[in-house]
Amino acid sequence: MEPILTIENLKTSFMTSNGEVQAVRGVSFSVGRGEIVGLVGESGSGKSVTSMSILRLLADTAKIKEGKILFEGEDLTKCSKARMRKSRGGKISMIFQDPMSSLNPLIPVGKQVGEMIRIHHPEKSKEEIRREVLELFSGVRIPEPEKRYGSFPHEFSGGMRQRVMIAMALANRPELLIADEPTTALDVTIQDQILKQLRELEKQFGTSIIFITHDLGVVAELCDRVIVLYGGLVMEEAAIDDIFERPRHPYTLGLLASIPSVDQDKSRRLQPIPGSPPDMTKPPEGCPFAPRCRYARRVCAEELPEMTEVGTGHYSRCWLLDPEAPAENNPFCGKRGESHE
Ligand code: SF4
Repeated sequence: MEPILTIENLKTSFMTSNGEVQAVRGVSFSVGRGEIVGLVGESGSGKSVTSMSILRLLADTAKIKEGKILFEGEDLTKCSKARMRKSRGGKISMIFQDPMSSLNPLIPVGKQVGEMIRIHHPEKSKEEIRREVLELFSGVRIPEPEKRYGSFPHEFSGGMRQRVMIAMALANRPELLIADEPTTALDVTIQDQILKQLRELEKQFGTSIIFITHDLGVVAELCDRVIVLYGGLVMEEAAIDDIFERPRHPYTLGLLASIPSVDQDKSRRLQPIPGSPPDMTKPPEGCPFAPRCRYARRVCAEELPEMTEVGTGHYSRCWLLDPEAPAENNPFCGKRGESHE
């Protein structure tokens, strides 16, 4: 699949009073045209900083220190601020987690969505823009679009506000949509509807989507491929079926053990991953997951394993993928899927 976005060795840091926080430490992946890619990990794994780096929406204290972000062949790390403003909300757009803080409470929602169109298409008349906004509202299933055009954000439910945000993100038919935990605050029924809409979008317009979440359950419903992040690094990357049927990283196994499944034994308890993510002001030299990994060996804390291809399009970063690793201490043997050996 032809990539629309390729990220190469991205390193993004924040300068704080406690020193440099190395939030993203060399992330590489690509997104194909019309593909939905899940970026998964706990808080602090680097997923949101990666997405903010793509859009160059980082705080003033943050800096992209190294790497390339190639969108349709152009390196976004080198684009001027004016050029980035043009891309944002145009070819690339974003849906944020909290629509209330992203919408202006004093401006009717129809006008806010229309403004997004006007910025990128000043040649369009007011009537044309209004018509497009109403079409967008119908498209994201906001009932009675004419009536809701002039409503204010506080007059909408959480799910409806998120639909307004989706309409805004789609206003200029983006080629790449970044959705950062867009359904986290919503109940499961609304979450399900929004995920279905994102899937429809991808089918209808061929929009590529990066879906950021900590929830592998949501990823299973929506994504074609998954990138698992931890400690500012990619730990595993695979097609959705491979992640669920043949996971090849202890961190991914931990994430999978912490989500419920329909067919699981009801007496089995969900297992949270013990411990907490590393302090990114002093990122570990070795595998960042080592302090929490029940399979860790001495080498794990000392040296960072490379990404290794373990199947077609399936990559993982773990010393246990070493054929010399003892099978009795290898979680990939006989527990989920087949052995890597
Ligand atoms: Fe665990 Fe070592 Fe693999 Fe890291 S490299 S996930 S610590 S076994």
